[in-house]
This record gives sequence, C-alpha cells and structure tokens, in this order.
Amino acid sequence: MSTFYLTTPIYYVNARPHLGHACTTIMADAMCRYRRLRGDRVYFLTGTDEHGERIAQVAAAAGKSPRAYADEIAAAYQETWRRLGITNDDFIRTTEPRHKKVVQEVLQRLYDAGEIYFGEYGGWYCYGCERFYTEKEIVDGKCPDHQTALTFIKEKNYFFRMSKYQTWLIKHLEDNPGFIQPDRYRNEVLGFLREPLQDLSISRPTSRLEWGIPLPFDDKYVTYVWFDALLNYYSAVSGGDEKTRGLWEHVEHLIGKDILKPHGVYWPTMLKAAGIPLYRRLNVHGYWSLGGSKMSKSVGNVVEAFQLTDKYGHDAFRYFLLREMNFGLDASFSEEALVDRLNADLANDLGNLASRASTLIAAGGPVAQVPALVEAADREIATAAAEARAAVERAMEEFAFQKALAGIWAFIGTVNRYVDASAPWALAKDPAKRPRLERVLATLADSLGFLGIVLDPFLPDAARKIREAIGAGGPLTLEAAVVGRLTSVPRVSKISGLFPRVDTKAPPGAHAPRPGEGAKGAGGKIAIGDFQKVELRVAEVLAAERVPKSKKLLKLSIRVGEETRTLVAGVAEHYEPAALVGRKVVIVANLEPATLMGVESNGMVLAASHEGTVSLLTLDKDVPSGSKVK
Ligand SMILES: [Zn+2]
Repeated sequence: MSTFYLTTPIYYVNARPHLGHACTTIMADAMCRYRRLRGDRVYFLTGTDEHGERIAQVAAAAGKSPRAYADEIAAAYQETWRRLGITNDDFIRTTEPRHKKVVQEVLQRLYDAGEIYFGEYGGWYCYGCERFYTEKEIVDGKCPDHQTALTFIKEKNYFFRMSKYQTWLIKHLEDNPGFIQPDRYRNEVLGFLREPLQDLSISRPTSRLEWGIPLPFDDKYVTYVWFDALLNYYSAVSGGDEKTRGLWEHVEHLIGKDILKPHGVYWPTMLKAAGIPLYRRLNVHGYWSLGGSKMSKSVGNVVEAFQLTDKYGHDAFRYFLLREMNFGLDASFSEEALVDRLNADLANDLGNLASRASTLIAAGGPVAQVPALVEAADREIATAAAEARAAVERAMEEFAFQKALAGIWAFIGTVNRYVDASAPWALAKDPAKRPRLERVLATLADSLGFLGIVLDPFLPDAARKIREAIGAGGPLTLEAAVVGRLTSVPRVSKISGLFPRVDTKAPPGAHAPRPGEGAKGAGGKIAIGDFQKVELRVAEVLAAERVPKSKKLLKLSIRVGEETRTLVAGVAEHYEPAALVGRKVVIVANLEPATLMGVESNGMVLAASHEGTVSLLTLDKDVPSGSKVK
C-alpha cells in the first residue's frame, strides 16, 4: 500500500470561494478519491491563508477585526467544500495554534543557523500581491498581476538567505525531472533561476502590520505571509499523532500556475535550509479564463461555484472542470460549453447507456448462470474495459484528468455500439436466441459495474447511483474494475434521468427541468425552504384536447380556485382527452410560463411513471380545486 498526501493551496481569505478555487479543490478531490480507490493510504489537506496586509485592509474596510473577518470567510470555504462533497481529511487555518507553533519553531531554527539576517531593503511593492517586484518583472511601472501602480518601500526587515540556494535548486530541478510537472513549469522555474535569486524578506514591521505571526526572536516584527502560509503543508502533519505520522515524505502539492514561484522557488529553498525533506512533486494546472481574462484569487471577474452546481448538479460541474482543462494548460470557461458537455457526454453517451442497458437487463434478468457463449463482441468489451482502466491509471499518474475521462468515454462508446450491434431487443423476441441474450445482458451488467467503479473519482453521485441500481455491494476498489468475469445477470433496477438533457432552446423554467435545479445540500437533499418554493395545488380539468401535430401533448383547461388557466401536459399517449374532463389533479402552480408546440403552458401536472406506465396524481377524498398540496 502506498501513501499519498495531497494538498491544495490554502486559499487567501480576502475573498469568498470562486470557480478557480473550486476547480483546484475538485481536482484534488478527484485525485484523492482515485488513490483511495487504488487502496492507498490517502491524506487530503486544504485550508485557508489568513494573515497579511490584504486581510487587515479588507477587514478594516468591512468594519471587522481581522480575526472575525477570517472566521467568516474560512467558514464559507468549509461550507463550500462540504456542499460540493469534497473529501478532505483536514482543513488547516494559519491562525490556528498548531500552525503558529511550527512557523515559530522553523523561524527560530533558521535564525539560529544564520539563515536569517537583519537588513535594509528598498523596492517596488504591490499591496495586492504583498510582494516586492524586481525591475524585470514590472510592466509599465505597474504590477503585472493587478495592473496597479507599485509603491516604493524602504525598510529594515529580516531576510532569508534564499540566494545561497540558487545553484542547489537548479541542480535539483535538473536531476529530478518529475519534481515539478508538467514539464513546462519546471522549465519556467529554471527560467526564473537564470536571473540572480534575491534573498527573501520574511518579516513586516508591526508598526506597519500587526496581523501576522510574531517573529520568535523579535516581537517588533511579524512573519511575511508567504513564509507563514507555505509552512501549513508541514505544520498540518507535524502534530505527531497516529493519523498524520509518516505522511510528510509523501507530500505532493497541487496548485494553479499563478503561485508557481513561491512553490517552485521559495518553498524548496525554505525546506532545504530548515533541514526538512523536500516535497515529492509539485503539480501545476493552468488558468481558467472567463471572457478572455484569467480568474484568480486577486482579480475580480469570478464565478461563484454554487451558481453552476445548483443549476446543473455537482457531477456535471465536476465533469466539465476535469474534462475541459488539459492539465497544465489554460482553459476557457463558459456556461454554454458546460451545457454542451453535459448534453453530449453525460446525457447522451453515459446517461443513455445507463438507461438502456439497465432497462434491458431489468426486463431480461435476473439469470443465475448464463451460458458461456462468449463471442468476439463480448471479448472486445472486456478488452475495451482493460484499456480504459489502463488509460485511467496512466493519466492519473500525471494528474491528466482529461485523458482519464477520455479513456472511460472510449469504453462507453464501445459499449453503446455493442448494444446497437447485438440488438438485445431483437434477441428477446426469439426464444432460440435466449442463451445469446443472456450473455449480452451479463456483459452489459458487467459494463455498468465497471463504470460504477471507474467513474467514482470523477462523478461520485452518478457512480453511486449506477452501483446501487445493479446492487453492487462490497468494498469499492479499482482492482474489481474488470469486465469478463460475470457469469450471471443480476437483478437491476432501471436507471433513468442520470443526466437529463438541458434544453438549450427552451426558456429558463420551461417544462424540461434542469438537473439539480435549486440549491441542494449534502447527499442531494434539499432544505425544506427550497421545497416550499414549489407551489402545489389541486386543479380541476375543465376541458382537454390534443395539441395538433404532437403525439405526446394534451392542452388542458383547468380551474385552480377562482382562476382558469391553460396548461400543456405530456400524457397524450396515456390518457384520452375526454377521460380527463372533470378529474382533479395536482399541479405545480408557480412555474414560469413556457410555450410548447405553440401553446402557452402555465404550470405542470404531476404524474408518476414506471416502465412505460404513466399515472396522474389524483386525490382519494374530494377537496376543492385550488387547495394547497404539501
Ligand atoms: Zn499585484
């Protein structure tokens, strides 16, 4: 069993969580879920970075103490990760005593060893970035990140002898090609190191800033926020308890490229100087751009993560982030692209496969022992599964989520073609072909079982639904993701609406509901307040007729209390119009109007459906139309 300790950056509490943070954290979550699936010992750390000038400033602007302000934002992060189903093992805050203690110990150790000295420095400073910029980095006299004017600051401070480690770091990067990946970022760090490396100012005078960890050897100074923050990865696992013992040597970091320099240059030199083993690997992803500019923690222009997960569901949001970005490169974010992916990959490829395979198996199974009539087509499915799993394993070695998913989707495509070619619905009509049918159904059940495992890191909700539908019990392990061993057709329940298609033409609030619409809590549950937003009422059908040119739609004239309105219902294949007149049904009364086949519909009739049977909800006692249903 190998050990895997993965960190996200700790997010700076100057702003609430946005899409950029969600992306990094979801990537880390997918990776940790994958490593757990492999059977590894996994520890997943995230947290918040809470000190520094920006925090003192934004707290003051909000009329709060830095502490109260940090508490509020840290709680917002924790709540966000909880709602997104993130499986972090720990959440560290840099204001916690366990962290401060380690920062002060490391500072004292470096000071005692002569690695820190007192000196004076003057330079161009960006308050937004909380760092000095060298002449070379400055663009038109401005911060390259913020495009704001820089301030010349000259003050006495403590410095870490970072310059001393320049040659060592270059050699380390040259000798260890995998230390920073993808390779372009290792090259970028080597590029920084072609310029003389400066010593790093690691303090701020308390006359200017009090919101920080006091230097253990001079109480007139607090620790520079980066020096403090980077140490979180180490302080979180330095408590000496059973849970975190032996983790440090296995640490890998996942970051966005905007913080490459602190992680690729400051951090390894700090560790080296402090005599702490280096991290194993730094994994760097690109930016998401939105409307042409990057989303980062310090620039506006951000999308709140929840707007999208609420609208399309967690899995669809995760899938888009993991599939759309080529790890290491930039990607561009748009809601349209998300909907396209949802419709094509999730609703069409995966959703349809799950739906039709489960329907076929439910109709033809269970079968305790299927005949050993394996044909070339079945063997192809087994091979495709083995290839998909190998692709996932290879891709996940280098955080290439997009390749892992492409591998799984190649398998889904193969199985969809297998369904078409083997035509189980035709086999079912001929009793002589029953043995072949059973073999095909077993292969389909096997394929669903495979997907229920390999999709788990990426689409945890959908994977769980698939496993539940096929009754897959027992431990969830990657090792079990093999197609070709199943010799029975299990009892399967039909999987429907795994990823409903988003109708891109219909107006918002039209009758095809968007998946996950409304704020969902943990485990897909909604709060009572969300349910109460839906106004359900008893309505009486006054008249009913078919909508011209439509097989499915009926136009109903209904009375809701004093009001009469028109409503379109998709039940024409199940009810004769005349049979509905005078019936009392239940409707969603506060749905936005939508036009279906040219008829404006004001509300939706509730009906239950099962295996092709559709049943309208009616009342078992007579109550007046307009009565509230809850
Ligand atoms: Zn800046």
